[in-house]
Amino acid sequence: MQRKQAAAPRGLSHATPVYVAHAQDAWLEDVDGNRFVDFAGGIGCLNVGHRNPAVISAIDAQAQNFLHTCVQVTPYEGYIRVAERLNQITPGKFAKKTLLLNTGAEAIENAVKIARAYTRRPGAIAFEDAFHGRTFMAMALTSKTHPYKDGFAPFPSDVYRVPYAYCYRCSYSMQYPSCDLYCAHHLEDTFRRVTAAEDIAALIVEPVLGEGGFATPPPEFFGILMDICRKHGIVFIADEVQSGFGRTGKMFACEHYGIEPDIFVTAKSLGGGLPLAAVTGRAEIMDAPGEGGLGGTFAGNPMACAAANAVLDTFEQGDLLHRANSIGERFEKRARKWADRFEIIGDIRGLGAMRALELVRSSDTREPAPDETREIAQYCYEHGLITITAGTYGNVIRLLVPLVISDEQLDEGLDVLEAALASVCERRPAVAEATME
Ligand code: PMP
Repeated sequence: MQRKQAAAPRGLSHATPVYVAHAQDAWLEDVDGNRFVDFAGGIGCLNVGHRNPAVISAIDAQAQNFLHTCVQVTPYEGYIRVAERLNQITPGKFAKKTLLLNTGAEAIENAVKIARAYTRRPGAIAFEDAFHGRTFMAMALTSKTHPYKDGFAPFPSDVYRVPYAYCYRCSYSMQYPSCDLYCAHHLEDTFRRVTAAEDIAALIVEPVLGEGGFATPPPEFFGILMDICRKHGIVFIADEVQSGFGRTGKMFACEHYGIEPDIFVTAKSLGGGLPLAAVTGRAEIMDAPGEGGLGGTFAGNPMACAAANAVLDTFEQGDLLHRANSIGERFEKRARKWADRFEIIGDIRGLGAMRALELVRSSDTREPAPDETREIAQYCYEHGLITITAGTYGNVIRLLVPLVISDEQLDEGLDVLEAALASVCERRPAVAEATME
């Protein structure tokens, strides 16, 4: 850690001081030989597991041929194959095209570029509690100020923010279903009071919040937003960087909502551990930028494409979607029991294996419990479980476990999490007292 502090900037933080020596499936081993169950999966990048054998052999085979040529100089089939497959499996039967990039943020930047080129409009609608990455446009679209935006202004202009359907902390203090999805319908009002719809190129939204804490909107939310976008000629961009590739028990979270976005952004688990991201969209929209307007030296790198094709094979051949649902059910069952025991649990939510606990100091006031959340994460890694927090208020524990985890390993991790909750509640008299009632 001393070497890290000396060699790398403090802006690069770390959830744990665990230095990894080896990883396989859903576990990690550190340089001291300690073993950990991994509920973080490299922040949701390892849905097919650490060192998935199909991914490793695809990388090995690609390494025997070539590592890099740049697709803009001499193309290769692996890139085209990933593009064809994403065009096929993303929601919507219309003609699509795919551009490959390296990271989620880069894909978001390109999605906005493409939507602007298509509509010839400047503006973007983004949501409260959204996270879209750390580059400038992605930061402008991101909601949480500290630490993501602190000190980095000025940001690109023409980004307008509206509330998300984060029902546990509704921005309008309403309740579903009596709210009648006021937050979604209110977008029309934004076009009267804040910015003209004719100036908006794109609306960008996560179907389940990732860094924002796994808020999972009611079924009607996205359909209403899509209808409004359609009416005004606004490109609907879904950011499935965190929710994609089986995490929610379907290949993509949008499938739960029955929506077909105009542009679909993916990354993280697409590369099975290698950096790869994609912008997939309606062919006529994707073709809006002129020749040479899109690309990047390493974007759609051959090694990452080989890995992604192996990831997609694994989903085609296996039962990972089914597994994601059974992981989610197992987590939910335990979490419901914890909610009876620990008042600190304010909300349990998510889809499939994309599940989370929101922790509060009091279930009446819903005051967030970020210190306790940090203590729980620390207890976990000290007892053999890597877990990461989330949420605008830093009070969410999330499950991003590789979907190849066995029930025994999952239970081992959940046992540690339960002990962490018990330990924190015991150490906090106010919370413990409330628990006794
Ligand atoms: N969008 C979402 C929904 C994300 O969760 C993330 C990363 N946490 C990003 C975009 C940015 O991805 P990357 O870190 O690969 O740039």
